[in-house]
Amino acid sequence: MNEHEGRKTPLDGREGLSSYLRYLGDSLPDFYLIQHRADTVDRETALTELREEARACQRCSLFSTRTQVVFGEGNPWASLMFVGEGPGADEDATGRPFVGRAGELLTRMITAMGYERPDVYIANIVKCRPPGNRVPEEIERRSCLPFLHRQISLVAPKAIVLLGQTAAVSLLAHTTGIKKIRGKESRMKEHPEIRVMPTYHPAYLLRNPSAKGEVWEDLKQVMSWLGRNRP
Ligand code: SF4
Repeated sequence: MNEHEGRKTPLDGREGLSSYLRYLGDSLPDFYLIQHRADTVDRETALTELREEARACQRCSLFSTRTQVVFGEGNPWASLMFVGEGPGADEDATGRPFVGRAGELLTRMITAMGYERPDVYIANIVKCRPPGNRVPEEIERRSCLPFLHRQISLVAPKAIVLLGQTAAVSLLAHTTGIKKIRGKESRMKEHPEIRVMPTYHPAYLLRNPSAKGEVWEDLKQVMSWLGRNRP
């Protein structure tokens, strides 16, 4: 038994924390609000155009077996972003990321951190489902990554949580296993200003619930980066 087994974490329950204050206030100067609105329109427009580009994409062979492109979703102004591996059957059918059982757990993780799911941005390394849920091949990941890098540049989050081995090896400059690098702050060479936390994928947690304690420790670090310490 490891040190986390038997220890209850917020990831075990469904209630989570959702009582944090929002920080947009009346005190912001007008010029900031005007600029904010203009940038919001530009950002949303750019993300919509990028989504349309992805929907037509045939850059790799995954286009031929997909039902829908799963571009990603969330707040274009999110300070927190989650990146997983790729769509599964539920995501392929709905066109939305993380909607199956692993998605339910991810939603619980987000809520436990004091956010609601629409507050954050969620995307994957590849936008089309690999047949049989196999791990996407390197050529597929390389073909698709430009979409994700543009999403990251547009959303410009303060922190990104990488969910699982495929997300970690695709975006970080090493090939070490997720067990060795989870819980350690990393940076991407393409976006060095963003703090990155690799951790386990929710699907792994469904198979290995005793690892929830480790993931919760990782998420608490990210919360501290974002000024969201648990009361
Ligand atoms: S996985 Fe990415 S690169 Fe491949 S077809 Fe889909 S959108 Fe294009």
